[in-house]
Amino acid sequence: MEYDDDLKRIVAFHGHICPGVAYGYRVAREAIKQLGRKAKDEELVAIVENDSCAVDAIQVLTGCTFGKGNLIHRDYGKQVYTFYSRATGEGIRFSIDFDYPETPEEKAAWERFHAGEKTEEVMSRIRSRKARKIQAILSASPEEVMKIRHVTMPVPPEAQIYPGVRCAICGEKVMEPRARVKGGKIICIPCSEG
Ligand SMILES: [Zn+2]
Ligand SMILES: [Zn+2]
Repeated sequence: MEYDDDLKRIVAFHGHICPGVAYGYRVAREAIKQLGRKAKDEELVAIVENDSCAVDAIQVLTGCTFGKGNLIHRDYGKQVYTFYSRATGEGIRFSIDFDYPETPEEKAAWERFHAGEKTEEVMSRIRSRKARKIQAILSASPEEVMKIRHVTMPVPPEAQIYPGVRCAICGEKVMEPRARVKGGKIICIPCSEG
C-alpha cells in the first residue's frame, strides 16, 4: 500500500507503522478536516485519553504537542480524542470504535499467541493480521472507524511561564510552582523525596 505524505511523516517520527498510528492518522485527518487548519500558536487543543502510538500521529499532524502545552493527557485508557478551539471552546470528540473483520485463522493465531506460542507459523500469522488490520483501518469510512460528536469545552487558561528558583541541595533550577520548602530551604521535588 502507498502511504500519503502525512502518513510518511508520522511513520518517520514514530519509527514504525502500527494499528495505533493508523487510528491516530484517521482521527487527526478528520479533526483537521472538521476544525479547519492545523493548530498554530495554541489555537487548537487536543485532549488524549491514552498514551498509545496514536498520540504521536496526532502530535505530528495537528500541531497539538506535549511541549507546546496544547496536548493534554488524561490517563483514562480510552481511545478517545477531543479537539477544540481554545478561543471558542467549540470542539469535536472522536471515540475509536472499529470492528476489525478478523478471519477465523487470525483469531486462532491470536489466541495461540496470547497463550504464549511464539512459533514461526504463529508469528507470521500475527504479522499478516497486523498488516491487514492497518489496511482495514486506513481504508474504512470515518463512521466505521470512530464515533464523532460535537462538544463545547470550558476555555482553559493560556500556558504559563514561571520564574526559576535554585534548589538549595542539588543546585539545579526548578520552576517555582514545583519547588518545595523544607527546613526553611527551597528545594526541588527529587531532593525533597531523596
Ligand atoms: Zn506504534
Ligand atoms: Zn534539588
